[in-house]
Amino acid sequence: MPESYLVIGGSGFLGHRIVEFLLARGEAAVAVFDITQRHFEKNVTFYSGDITVESEISNAIQKSNVTCIIHTASPPHGLGTKVYWHVNVEGTKTVIAAAVANGVRKLVFTSSAGTLFDGTELIDCDERMPYPKFTSDLAYNETKAKAEEAVLAANGKNGLLTVAIRPAGIFGPGDRQMFPGFRQVIVNGQTGFQIGDNTNLWDVTYVDNVVHAHILAADKLDAPLPPAEELIEASLTPISAS
Ligand code: NAD
Repeated sequence: MPESYLVIGGSGFLGHRIVEFLLARGEAAVAVFDITQRHFEKNVTFYSGDITVESEISNAIQKSNVTCIIHTASPPHGLGTKVYWHVNVEGTKTVIAAAVANGVRKLVFTSSAGTLFDGTELIDCDERMPYPKFTSDLAYNETKAKAEEAVLAANGKNGLLTVAIRPAGIFGPGDRQMFPGFRQVIVNGQTGFQIGDNTNLWDVTYVDNVVHAHILAADKLDAPLPPAEELIEASLTPISAS
């Protein structure tokens, strides 16, 4: 059966690139849910709404007969604690409730690598790494972790299949935060100091690769399980927090 997609946050940097990818591969049913409309593709239905309001998400799900939600919405960096708890945690729980109530089959959630960041070096870690006791950049990272937990805990509810993707920094065309922010630092002449010894490493991913991860996750959520030997390979001893 062909999928019907709802990209939440589809007016944003990543969300809109996901929309473009879905259209480019010929998907006929693509809708966007966002508080702001920034793009006006003729073949994309736009729903203006807030993820903290269940009736608004349910309306979009029902009207577009949605089978797969890709939830990328989140407030930008640098806002107060309250807004992150409200949108990232309560809003994501509202999306989950609407998805479960309306029998949506798949939910792909954009989390963040920041869910694991406690200010110490993280090298070669993956999804087996436990959450840290305290996250760095408190509200944003902590609320992304809480939202991610809720998404994963909803797996199986009324047939809903869920997955969370954790990008680190994302760059590419349409970036509204990271590189514009770096540029502003240079424009403001705020480059006269450095943190660390100038050997710091940081992880960034090109936006289309992050899009690819989301699409693969959506496509594979209901795929048959891989052969047993691949599952054994994937179930290595969990990495412990050091
Ligand atoms: P963005 O700000 O460009 O897009 C987010 C979109 O969400 C915006 O269009 C915004 O209007 C919408 N939105 C915000 N609050 C909403 C609400 N209450 N209801 C409905 N829509 C709402 O951000 P982005 O850079 O595209 O990030 C997308 C996702 O990727 C976010 O979940 C973010 O946490 C995650 N992420 C981003 C980066 C990065 O470097 N950009 C890194 C890791 C994770």
